[in-house]
Amino acid sequence: MSLQPLLPAAAIAANMAELKPPLRPQEAVVEASRCLFCFDAPCIMACPTGIDVPAFIKKIASGNPVGAARTILTANILGASCARVCPTQVLCEGACVLDDRDEQPIQIGRLQRYATDYVEQRAISVLTRPTLQNGRKVAVIGAGPAGLGCAAELARLGHPVTIFEKQAQAGGLNTYGIAYYKMQPRVSLAEVELVKSLGVEFRCGVTIGRDLTVAQLAGEFAAIFVAVGLGAATKLRIPGETLPEVVDALEFISRLHTEPLDSIPIGRRVAVIGAGNTAIDAVTQSKRLGAERAFIVYRRGEPEMSAYDFEYEHAKDDGAHFLFHAAPIEIVATHGHVSGLKLIRTRLVGDTVEMIPGTEWIEPCDLVLKAVGQEKQAAMIRSLFPSLNVDARGVVQRDPLTGATNLPHVFAGGDCANGGREVVNAVGEGKKSAHAIHAFLTRETVPLPVQPSRLGAKQGASGSGLLTPIRAHELEEALARSSPSQ
Ligand code: SF4
Repeated sequence: MSLQPLLPAAAIAANMAELKPPLRPQEAVVEASRCLFCFDAPCIMACPTGIDVPAFIKKIASGNPVGAARTILTANILGASCARVCPTQVLCEGACVLDDRDEQPIQIGRLQRYATDYVEQRAISVLTRPTLQNGRKVAVIGAGPAGLGCAAELARLGHPVTIFEKQAQAGGLNTYGIAYYKMQPRVSLAEVELVKSLGVEFRCGVTIGRDLTVAQLAGEFAAIFVAVGLGAATKLRIPGETLPEVVDALEFISRLHTEPLDSIPIGRRVAVIGAGNTAIDAVTQSKRLGAERAFIVYRRGEPEMSAYDFEYEHAKDDGAHFLFHAAPIEIVATHGHVSGLKLIRTRLVGDTVEMIPGTEWIEPCDLVLKAVGQEKQAAMIRSLFPSLNVDARGVVQRDPLTGATNLPHVFAGGDCANGGREVVNAVGEGKKSAHAIHAFLTRETVPLPVQPSRLGAKQGASGSGLLTPIRAHELEEALARSSPSQ
């Protein structure tokens, strides 16, 4: 049977209301007033974009949300979306010293949202359009978080920047791939406008390699930042995968951003394969669209899930079920439509997943969402840049400090170079690379105020870690290593 929308528009709208309501002004001031305004604040060090958290919180506490927004957006041009989608529990809030005193950490994400919403809703401009000081143009391929972070920072350093994006709209994952109740696409599109306001040119609907060659780019631009993200969903490679009700989870989430919510067909029983954050988004969205039963299938156990603990708890609160130690081996059809998922029990032997013969069973379902990761875009990247170092996993090799690759004029960042991390990591990498590109083009070094190193693992996945201050000589050395011809 073909799928139908299950709930009326009003019920879906109620279900899709934002997870955390915005703070009211009085609440924001009270919450901000709890901050200790720490010296050498660990919350700053835990932010991959180095936002001066105590500085912006102090401005909120003193009734200056515009100044707070300026502090945030100067450090992180995607401060509004990061306020909504960052795993703050394992980043800034996870590092808050109040946590060590058995007090609730400051709600940094919600305060950040309060300040950025304040200026966005009132159309208050807090960033001035920079003057072009450096004539050498930079091309950015990909208008996701890394591309936007890089372009905004380059513009502020005085460079003309053009972003090329194959999709019709810019914003990447933030526009198309975040669960609706976490962030609506208008937030991402407002940030794109903010980047435009800095003088960055956008050419959307343009595919490099098809509409424009890399040689043409190289003729016009002195440096290129590659931020193409990840590609299509990883295939399951089991029988039944081509049935009409087998859908990529990201494509499913994208429909929520581009079509009326009450027009989206949903199964009564939805199987989501995978246990990362996209899988959690898919299973919770399914429940909120009216699925009677939505369950996650994961071939490992609860401790091995890559989804954050708070996401897992949230999915359970939404009524999602979890089938651990189960692997899909076939998608079963009746009259050409999905009617079940054939599973087999698994066990972990060391780090290896073993299937246990004779334990197969069929879970009834009428929609299967695939969330087992995304393919790397290695083939496409190699076709554009045949000499670029891309490793066996399909990840672009670059200096993590600068984004510099083995090609002197090519830099890379975001998911295509880190293998897939958080939005805020991508913005931070774009920002770092902008400084390196600036140094490459001008032979000047403009140190970042705070240099993110790597995120640690307060809750296992890409959690928070302390950051090390940037050192100008490190930047220069890294550029020299990556640019032998310079
Ligand atoms: Fe405020 Fe917590 Fe940051 Fe200290 S660590 S400045 S208390 S938010």
